[in-house]
Amino acid sequence: MNLVDRFLHYVSFDTQSDELTNMTPSTPGQMVFAQALAEELKQIGLTEVTLDDNGYLMATLPANTDKKVPVIGFIAHLDTSPDMSGRHVSPRIVKNYGGADIVLCAEEDVVLKPSEFPELLHYVGQDLIVTDGKTLLGADDKAGVAEIVTAMEYLLAHPEIKHGKIRVAFNPDEEIGKGAHKFDVKAFGAEWAYTMDGGEIGELEYENFNAAVARVTFKGRNVHPGYAKHKMINSIRIANQYAIMLPRWETPEHTEGYEGFYHLISFEGNVEKTVLTYIIRDHDRDRFERRKKELEHLTRKINNEFPGCASIEISDQYYNMREKVEPVMHIVDLVSDAMRAVDVVPMVKPVRGGTDGAQLSFKGLPCPNIFAGGLNFHGRYEFVPIQSMEKATEVIVQIARMAAEK
Ligand SMILES: [Zn+2]
Repeated sequence: MNLVDRFLHYVSFDTQSDELTNMTPSTPGQMVFAQALAEELKQIGLTEVTLDDNGYLMATLPANTDKKVPVIGFIAHLDTSPDMSGRHVSPRIVKNYGGADIVLCAEEDVVLKPSEFPELLHYVGQDLIVTDGKTLLGADDKAGVAEIVTAMEYLLAHPEIKHGKIRVAFNPDEEIGKGAHKFDVKAFGAEWAYTMDGGEIGELEYENFNAAVARVTFKGRNVHPGYAKHKMINSIRIANQYAIMLPRWETPEHTEGYEGFYHLISFEGNVEKTVLTYIIRDHDRDRFERRKKELEHLTRKINNEFPGCASIEISDQYYNMREKVEPVMHIVDLVSDAMRAVDVVPMVKPVRGGTDGAQLSFKGLPCPNIFAGGLNFHGRYEFVPIQSMEKATEVIVQIARMAAEK
């Protein structure tokens, strides 16, 4: 099967994940896809194909050289975002895109426009796979799956390209933050790996946020408002006072690049009790730690004024993989070289979020992220240029080749 047919076949599987089921995989559709994929991997000639009960599928492309080459891995996720349906995806190919608006669904007036998505104009003259406006596309991350499988098939058909042992893995539940949780790094047995889960062509990422969540609880005292003087303590008003002590501009809507933030994601309460939930994000570990200290400091300030009112619980969620990747920077340089070898300009940028690769890096498998080619993830405007998927496939082949040359 060629790359595009393969991709179109994969998006026909409904693999939307669900954060509420508490199962792994979180939805049965992911296992159905994993089973079909396992058959395909065997059929194209990969070995050591294993699929565990949690939906983690692994396989091997054996080395075809006697040279001692490190084992490297490629990883993509099986699931699609819970944000939008992935059932009955019916994609369409817009050939030789001319730069105009693309009507995805006429009856519901869903139109993909360069005026709203200017990145479209980077792909004039290319062939775009788009949705029918009713579901997401699932290029995140079935483009990555299709690219990895196609690259393995290509390497099997081209034994003149020498490479070491390559491991591939396809995991469930990335979109609900659990893709790495049950990933058996030891069984995978690679020295390092790459997730094929980035966006636009050229993207290469090895930095992500450090992340924590903080819950600040304020206890008040309710009294009949007519008799409340010097007696009532209104926890809502105290929580509000707390919230406005934080730097006003250090929020997601005012930051970009390497700028961190405090993000108030929920404010729930009544006079008796109010709970604020913040997420804290920063690429820099020291600044990240200072942000957590600042929240604790403000909690003490509130307690100076209202003794015993405020309490805080902070828990770390994930860390920046940079500290695990920097000591082995050659694994990033290898990707830049592989991209240049196939005329792709590497675009290194910090991820303003987390990645499965970050968690895997802290589990002992350094794991930068490479573009899979899609754009506008998690919604009906998602699309992927076929030429970007082809380049991603070539990048995988080049990485395999260049790792064996070094
Ligand atoms: Zn993804």
